[in-house]
Amino acid sequence: MDQFERLNQLPLRDDLRGLRPYGAPQLDVPILLNVNENTFGVPLDAKEAILKAVADELDGLNRYPDREFTELRRALAAYLGHGLNEDNMWAANGSNEVLQQLLQAFGGPGRSLMSFPPTYSMYPLLASGTGTGYIEGFRDEDYNLSAESAAEQVRSKSPNIVFLCSPNNPTGTALGLDIVEAVYEAGEASRTIVIVDEAYAEFAHSGTRSALLLLPNRPRLIVSRTMSKAFAMAGARVGYLAAAPEITDAVRLVRLPYHLSAITQATAVAALRNSDALLANVEAIKVQRDRIVNELIRMGLAPAPSDSNFVFFGGLEDPAGVWEALLAAGILIRDVGIAGHLRVTAGTEAETTAFLQALEAILDGVH
Ligand SMILES: *Cc1c(COP(=O)(O)O)cnc(C)c1O
Repeated sequence: MDQFERLNQLPLRDDLRGLRPYGAPQLDVPILLNVNENTFGVPLDAKEAILKAVADELDGLNRYPDREFTELRRALAAYLGHGLNEDNMWAANGSNEVLQQLLQAFGGPGRSLMSFPPTYSMYPLLASGTGTGYIEGFRDEDYNLSAESAAEQVRSKSPNIVFLCSPNNPTGTALGLDIVEAVYEAGEASRTIVIVDEAYAEFAHSGTRSALLLLPNRPRLIVSRTMSKAFAMAGARVGYLAAAPEITDAVRLVRLPYHLSAITQATAVAALRNSDALLANVEAIKVQRDRIVNELIRMGLAPAPSDSNFVFFGGLEDPAGVWEALLAAGILIRDVGIAGHLRVTAGTEAETTAFLQALEAILDGVH
């Protein structure tokens, strides 16, 4: 009997039977461009500040941490601006946990969540983990979503929760605020909670507007952010949201007490105090992102417009074969399972060069 069969002998929840754990392959490869991490790492100044902040916590490590992580909420509000304060803020171990807590509070059995694939593959998984029904919305052939179409779909399905991912993963493209406004209004009758996942907001082209601008007078709107991408801290597990204070009160009903460790809180606060240093490489990453788009067009491929730190591109006859050949060359990118397409993270200039040269050689049939 293999491990999978043994698992199925357990009195597992019926809806979990036959499932496999989700996650991108974690392979030991020189160039990792598969999960949209910031490949620059943490700058020295920030490292020293974090080390000192964590060291200062060690004396009190016998005590539970501040359950309300007030200092962190204050630092997050100051970072976002937009007139927000600590009452508008909530944080957890990655924005995935923030989203799960939102589903625990606003979803669950008998309720539903809607998103518009191709989008972040965690949304249906978070739905299944919390017993929330999943409603699959749709986009047009170019993977674009118009305000009219999104609003119409929300009006006809009346989901309890809608996820809008902007910039969208895996396509990379940001949504206009007209879509967020239209979806929010369409959800008026069903009191739909609208969650805008802005995990990649810091990489957007200048002029791309954040849904934070729409928060005033919209108590059902939530903007989710993370320190995993632009802040180069995926390993620290810190995600957060901004919303009306009553939303954070709702999340307090489902969070585990002390869910954010003292180490995590100290790390995040020190990082936010050094946000200039941590975000210093965002512009360099955007340059590589735009370079990838231009080079892929030159190679005859079809990249989607990107406001994020990755590029989704089509025009491949054999994406799985290209993925394999890149892996053989020591470069891991992402096959998101969409016909003719792959997704690559914009890394350092050297990593990007290695990717582009290897891809061009593969497409030319030179191995
Ligand atoms: C990477 C990513 C996140 C971040 O998840 P964390 O749990 O904060 O690391 C959230 N949403 C999307 C769309 C992402 O791609």
